[in-house]
Amino acid sequence: MRKEKGLLIVLSGPAGVGKGTVCGALRNENTEIQYSVSATTREPRAGEVDGVNYFFKSREEFESMIENNQLLEHAEYVGNYYGTPIDYVKQTIEEGTDIILEIEVQGALKVRERFPEGVFIFLMPPSLAELRKRIQGRGTETAEIIDRRMTVAKEEIDMMKKYDYVVENDEVALAVERIKAIVTAEHCKRERLIEKYKQLVEVE
Ligand code: 5GP
Repeated sequence: MRKEKGLLIVLSGPAGVGKGTVCGALRNENTEIQYSVSATTREPRAGEVDGVNYFFKSREEFESMIENNQLLEHAEYVGNYYGTPIDYVKQTIEEGTDIILEIEVQGALKVRERFPEGVFIFLMPPSLAELRKRIQGRGTETAEIIDRRMTVAKEEIDMMKKYDYVVENDEVALAVERIKAIVTAEHCKRERLIEKYKQLVEVE
């Protein structure tokens, strides 16, 4: 029987909501899901590794990736570029493996235009106060950047209406369970399976 394509899963939501933590926890579960590594022009934070957390690029390098159509989407966010290299994503879904993109909202909406069949999940903070605490807790940003991120976050939360699913990140383990349930349900969707099982109803 024909193997169906992998799912393109977009996990998005305001910065600080815990997308990275939730993705990391999902990874530890050793599901067969793959993870897209983004390119960015921002400076690496302590402990971040090139090619693992991000591909760290200069603005010139990033702009040449845009010109050469090497990105599925890109966005300018708090003064830096972020983007998803397209080849790995395409290759993974063609192989029949699911892939998660952990990206901010503008980028997610651009992916939706190109891949309407993707699965769009919005990770929701339990409250704005909690979100601010999490952004501050990271301890790597200045007060000005935190304020800018909170302003952006409120606009982003309004974008939840453009997503297929909303997952509250009240507890990482619960958020992971909800995402796994969504992935399972998506694999059972009729429209994804109709081709695969077509021959079962064909009259001999
Ligand atoms: P950070 O600087 O905290 O690592 O990331 C800032 C924001 O950029 C986060 O919301 C993160 O999800 C988002 N981001 C990371 N990679 C990409 C990407 O490839 N494309 C887009 N559009 N956003 C990204």
